[in-house]
Amino acid sequence: MNEKIARLREAAKSAIDEAVDLNKLNEARVKYLGKKGAFTAVLRSMGEIAAEDRPKVGKIVNEAKTEIEKLIVEATQKLKAAALADKVAGETIDVTLPGRKQPLGHYHPLTLTLDRIKKIFLNMGYSVEEGPEIERDYFNFEALNLPKDHPARDMQDSFYITEEILMRTQTSPVQARTMQSHEPNSPIRMIAPGRVYRRDDYDATHSPMFTQVEGLVIDRGISFADLKGTLETALQQIFAANVGVRFRPSFFPFTEPSTEVDISCVMCHGKGCRVCKGTGWLEILGAGMVHPHVLEMSGYDPKVVSGFAFGLGVERIAMLSYGIDDLRLFYDNDVRFLRQF
Ligand SMILES: [Zn+2]
Repeated sequence: MNEKIARLREAAKSAIDEAVDLNKLNEARVKYLGKKGAFTAVLRSMGEIAAEDRPKVGKIVNEAKTEIEKLIVEATQKLKAAALADKVAGETIDVTLPGRKQPLGHYHPLTLTLDRIKKIFLNMGYSVEEGPEIERDYFNFEALNLPKDHPARDMQDSFYITEEILMRTQTSPVQARTMQSHEPNSPIRMIAPGRVYRRDDYDATHSPMFTQVEGLVIDRGISFADLKGTLETALQQIFAANVGVRFRPSFFPFTEPSTEVDISCVMCHGKGCRVCKGTGWLEILGAGMVHPHVLEMSGYDPKVVSGFAFGLGVERIAMLSYGIDDLRLFYDNDVRFLRQF
């Protein structure tokens, strides 16, 4: 019996020595120490030996098992270390390989256009004000002289969240918010850029979401001449050209008098083309003198101060500046289009 155990012990040792990887080592462990392994078989056959010899034999088997377990743990560590060393050796970096290129991003054409507009007005001493895109009906309409039953509301059918809360249809509510946050009758020179929402088609010239810049100037003695001079100067700078500017009477509920502002066509320089529909002029923005009622609603006294306001579409200006004929290109996220700017 003792001889048999000694043979098993030597066989197990050489199996561990010869194991070239963790799989082979595990095979050896199962073969000798497993539930159906050689040493377990020896312990099971103890019934065949004399009762007085059993403790002695059991002791020898357990000593052998302990030694083999220890050898397996050592061999496992050695094999693992060797595997790691192999892996590291195989992963050396070839510094002579060319690197991966990081494509350089840049601004969206609408952001570029908006930044240009902002810069022009900042240079004229305006501040840039912001307001929420989800707006109260009061600021979006009522404070701008558009009570609930006003027919002009139909022109700006919108996305309502509740009866009183909607996606803003214009950036004009920022005017009312700014006026109400100022001391009554204190001067204001501001623009409010941002996204606005209206229920609309989605085609080459319409989108239910677009970008506006609203402007507001309030002070003592502001006249229509200030409005004309400011917008003429701004438009010349926005289009970086000596464009002609034309004012046509119009109607907006929050200004009186109101005007549509046209520029001479930047494509044909007034000769008439497809873009200007042969007229030589392009409609570019709406403006007017702030309605006395709008001033009063926000705590300003129309007998003391006056002002003008204007609103322009950033997409329209970007389309004309870059010669883009489809509004949807701005929102399609096609890098082939976007990387051209
Ligand atoms: Zn034209």
